[in-house]
Amino acid sequence: MVLSNLKLQDIWSNVLDKLEESIDDSMVFNTFLSDSKLAAIEKDTAIVLVNNSFSKEFINASLFDLVQSTISKVTQTNFKLSVVDEYTDKNVDSKETKDEYNSSSLINFNSNLNPEYTFENFVIGPSNRESHAASLSAALNPGKFYNPLFIYGRSGLGKTHLLHAVGNYIRSKNNNLKILYVSSDTFIDEYFRCIREKGFDALKEKFKSVDVILIDDIQFLATREKVSEYFFTIFNLFINAQKQIILTSDRSPFELKGLEDRLVSRFQSGLTVCISAPEYETSLKILKKKIEIQNLNEEIDEEVLSFIAQKFSKDVRQLEGALNKLLFTAINITNSNKIDIDLAKVAFNTIGIGESKKTLDIDLIKVAVAEYYNISVNELSSKLRTSKITVARHIAMYLCRELLNTPLKEIGNEFGGRDHSTVINACEKVNKMCKENSDYFVVVTELKKRLKN
Ligand code: ADP
Ligand code: MG
Repeated sequence: MVLSNLKLQDIWSNVLDKLEESIDDSMVFNTFLSDSKLAAIEKDTAIVLVNNSFSKEFINASLFDLVQSTISKVTQTNFKLSVVDEYTDKNVDSKETKDEYNSSSLINFNSNLNPEYTFENFVIGPSNRESHAASLSAALNPGKFYNPLFIYGRSGLGKTHLLHAVGNYIRSKNNNLKILYVSSDTFIDEYFRCIREKGFDALKEKFKSVDVILIDDIQFLATREKVSEYFFTIFNLFINAQKQIILTSDRSPFELKGLEDRLVSRFQSGLTVCISAPEYETSLKILKKKIEIQNLNEEIDEEVLSFIAQKFSKDVRQLEGALNKLLFTAINITNSNKIDIDLAKVAFNTIGIGESKKTLDIDLIKVAVAEYYNISVNELSSKLRTSKITVARHIAMYLCRELLNTPLKEIGNEFGGRDHSTVINACEKVNKMCKENSDYFVVVTELKKRLKN
């Protein structure tokens, strides 16, 4: 059957309407289906296009029959469904699932969950879409899809929020599952306390009763040999029992120096996703969400929100800080209910940020390096390999690591979609050249100086 695009669109919007009605949880619909398309109908197969591999896997595992039967209903024909991922279309191995695991509920068990960090309060954009979809998949089917799920990215971008969101979601759907959120600090403290008071076995018992574990900032475990050995035991306990484990870190598993290889390779046996800084539109949406949650009396001009989103979008924590600063100024200093751009300028000048001083970010590094080498910013991310452009590109990548601690994957993306190993090579080369060649050293030092001022 050959159908025009228009006809396909019609069919699909009909199917989506029906699916939206039949799926109870609107978040599931929004995350996995709302962006899908009917790409073609070929012979007896309806080919549905999604824009990431999580959606494909989730639809195949959990929504296949529903989507297929809805297509049949709308078209009055029994088409087979085939879900295709627009970008990679790699078949992710679907892991065998075991029976639901047993859970013994502990009275007064403290999950350490912050009720405000939910999926509803989390704004989705291109920078966090993958991490959000992977987290929601884990929350919907703990232990079944991505285990472990490893989320990494710079500080202030929403990793902790997502961990709690998974915990809160599972708790809201299934009271029997015991969920535990621990930061690495708590994990380390607990380790020493337990070893001192009750011994290793007692500690193991404690974790045995947990069904879902959410461990935040595991980069801090990397340097603690004894603790990381113990962590490995707990980790295996969870994976072998198909209990969900989610880890966050400020760097990718590769870069967790100090952690044993066997642990790093086990991290990679699940799914690793990177979370990056929100772009302007997402920043704006986040600001609006924060305002909605706080139920504010103050009226904030759109122009002011746009100003903050532009200035502070490199990090969500900074974005929130800027909003709080603005509200503080409005309430305590100018005593005004109406927040316009003039008030915003007062607020940000008083703390010395805002218009006058730009926060260092990847774009600033690109501009400084491109200016120094007299090339365009686009050439830095291009495929061109003249020696000048290559050197400039290596130095820019190196500076992103050194000055911003940007994850390798993000740097690779920023410089023309290069692989993380290319970024590692570039950084190592610059390090080596700085030691061996004083001209090189002078250039790098000068650029660092310019960027820090
Ligand atoms: P990280 O753990 O990566 O350092 P957090 O999860 O602590 O970052 O996020 C910092 C702040 O930003 C939190 O208050 C969190 O609610 C907020 N935040 C981060 N990303 C989002 C988002 N996409 N939508 C709404 N709030 C967000
Ligand atoms: Mg955090």
